[in-house]
Amino acid sequence: MTIVTVTVAVTVGLLVGPWLRTAIFANRLPRGDPARRHCPHCSRLVLASGDLGIVGPVALSGRCPSCRRRVGAPPAVIEVVSAGVLGLLALRVHPLLVLAALGVVAAAGIVLVAIDATTRRLPDAVLAPTLVVVLVLLVVAGIVDHRPSELVGALSGGAAAFAGYSLLALVTAGLGFGDCKLAALLGLVLGWFGWEALAAGVTLGFVLAALYLLGRMITGRFSPSEQIPLAPFMLVGAFTVLLVAA
Ligand SMILES: [Zn+2]
Repeated sequence: MTIVTVTVAVTVGLLVGPWLRTAIFANRLPRGDPARRHCPHCSRLVLASGDLGIVGPVALSGRCPSCRRRVGAPPAVIEVVSAGVLGLLALRVHPLLVLAALGVVAAAGIVLVAIDATTRRLPDAVLAPTLVVVLVLLVVAGIVDHRPSELVGALSGGAAAFAGYSLLALVTAGLGFGDCKLAALLGLVLGWFGWEALAAGVTLGFVLAALYLLGRMITGRFSPSEQIPLAPFMLVGAFTVLLVAA
């Protein structure tokens, strides 16, 4: 059963790659800009229609079909990462609905990391639908799989993580409201596995961010005014703990 589940998860990870690329391309923009449809170099229309109007050549090569300049990650990078993460989750996480919820968070996480790393923002166009889908999957999992205490843990974990991050955002310039919403999403899935997992996942994210800052200070590349993207550290911290806790 596990081999079948892992094979399906890896296949899904490979197949969703082009959609993740589209979401990254459309949303890797300054705050307030409408979703991107055109090549930033030659202005040719790259996305046909809607946020998921994927065009094959762009999806596969990461290059504009007209001017051939890079508009996304090199071939296979996104696909291999998403297949690897989903495969690892499938090895560790049960039941299936919870695995599906974590898979959705992981796929959205890849998109959010790519966007946050370059634009320092976490767009609602990605966060909002992910929150809704994950919430629905966990509620159904709690009912169908008779896991009321895990469901209560998830809901209170999401609320607690959102509240904690919001308080921090009020007193810390480096934290944005997008980080608070991502914290709510990660709090939901971490909370399913208990308060220890929630505390460990959140703490590990901060530790990784602190280590990154320390590394920049030691190598002389740190400037006091710089704002580092938090999403990569929050997600790596949470998923490391999720893989252990599950
Ligand atoms: Zn172009």
